[in-house]
Amino acid sequence: MTCTSLHEAVGLLESIEKKMYAYNHAMSLIGVDGNTVAPKAGVEGRGITLGVLGELAYSLSTDRENIALAEYILQNAPKDDLALRRRAELLKKTAEKNARIPADEYIAFTVLTNEAQDVWAKAKNTNDFSLFAPYLEKIVAFNRKLAGYYDASLPPYDALLNEFEEGLTAKTLDTFFATLRSEIVPLMKKVAQSAPIDISFLRRSYPIEAQRRFSDVLMELIGIDRDRCTIGETEHPFTDGFSNRDVRITTHYHENAPDDSMFSVIHEGGHAIYELDGDDAFNYTLLCGGASMSMHESQSRFYENIIGRSRAFCSVLFPRMQKIFPGQLADVTEDMFYRAINRAEPSLIRTQADELTYALHIMVRYEIEKELVGGTLPVCDVPARWNALYKEYLGIDVPSDTEGCLQDCHWAGGMLGYFPSYALGSAYAAQMLDTMEACLGDVFADVERGDLSKIRGWLKENIHRYGQLYKPGELLERACGPFDASHYTNYLKKKFSALYGFEA
Ligand code: ZN
Repeated sequence: MTCTSLHEAVGLLESIEKKMYAYNHAMSLIGVDGNTVAPKAGVEGRGITLGVLGELAYSLSTDRENIALAEYILQNAPKDDLALRRRAELLKKTAEKNARIPADEYIAFTVLTNEAQDVWAKAKNTNDFSLFAPYLEKIVAFNRKLAGYYDASLPPYDALLNEFEEGLTAKTLDTFFATLRSEIVPLMKKVAQSAPIDISFLRRSYPIEAQRRFSDVLMELIGIDRDRCTIGETEHPFTDGFSNRDVRITTHYHENAPDDSMFSVIHEGGHAIYELDGDDAFNYTLLCGGASMSMHESQSRFYENIIGRSRAFCSVLFPRMQKIFPGQLADVTEDMFYRAINRAEPSLIRTQADELTYALHIMVRYEIEKELVGGTLPVCDVPARWNALYKEYLGIDVPSDTEGCLQDCHWAGGMLGYFPSYALGSAYAAQMLDTMEACLGDVFADVERGDLSKIRGWLKENIHRYGQLYKPGELLERACGPFDASHYTNYLKKKFSALYGFEA
């Protein structure tokens, strides 16, 4: 690559970014289509298209010429053009990383994880960890090797964490989880000893057609512009954003659990708002989208838990819900509703966990992953270690590996270092609330009137508009100061001690 001017180099960067956008746009749309309305039998054709586009996208993002182009831009761009410099940095990072991974090893890893996912599904269905164990062993060994390619200067687990959350270290996580362990485990034990909260009225029949209408109400309440964001239905709810003008969310309706879809819509709505409030100038560039998975999760959980499950929001939500479901909720009060949607109890399955216990599920996975990558835990001991940690943190016995260490697909997919992001998001969200309130005062007075505009304004100003301009840790620190887990544990202590009526 030889560029004679910065102007020419930026033109080249733009054309690469446009192509990347187009490939990813097309692949994601095929994914959304496959998950929503496409006929099942079309899976083969979708696979062919995804394979062809995926190869094109891969060779584009790993092209070694990108490294020289990025370096030219970094040498010649004005020091204060942060956006351009970051785009070059991101382009360089992907190309450099892939240049370090030998192609045959990359392919072998893809083949391995493809097979592993099939075997994992069988092992989970038949409660037979021994089927999956040899695959997990290979996946751990491969990840150790990959960690060296990603960044040989870091301890292997840190290098893996960096793939999902740039700049994150096990040291930060050790402090974070130690705080959670000392604060949430005792809190959860007190909750488990308290009188259980009644949720039976949420298990009555709530017709799905009416739940769909309620989703529209929810999207309006949280301020989603329907010209820029649509809602679909899938087995597992998700959000996909292509630009700040085209975002898709999905939900799943269960007739006897309207709270499932309600909080999926608010959760995915939080993800959508992050995408919708990105800077216009970042559309179709490498800066479009959220700073990281955990930063994204901080926004979805901010909307789902901090706002959506607050007492103030119930004043807005419950009367509207009662209007759509008058029969089902005739004998229910706003307070009963608030308590029901916040019920906490130790459980086996991460994806069904409540706001209080969720992070404990992640803590189990974090410790096991760290030990696997660190070589101190042999794969054959994973089930026993898993069960012991569930007993220690959640106080429950795990009856089978299906409901235990085989429940999640992440390790089979080759991902080690991904889980911590789920817990970090909630902690970031609580720190944002405290910072926001220090600046705006009590935001829940507005929430009680159904006015979320100031909250959204703060999030847009401090987080959303920046897209991927900053690394996640840096973005948080600019908005809220250094990461501090005590915001999160204080928030949980205050909320759940009041809810269950004991001293914090
Ligand atoms: Zn999410």
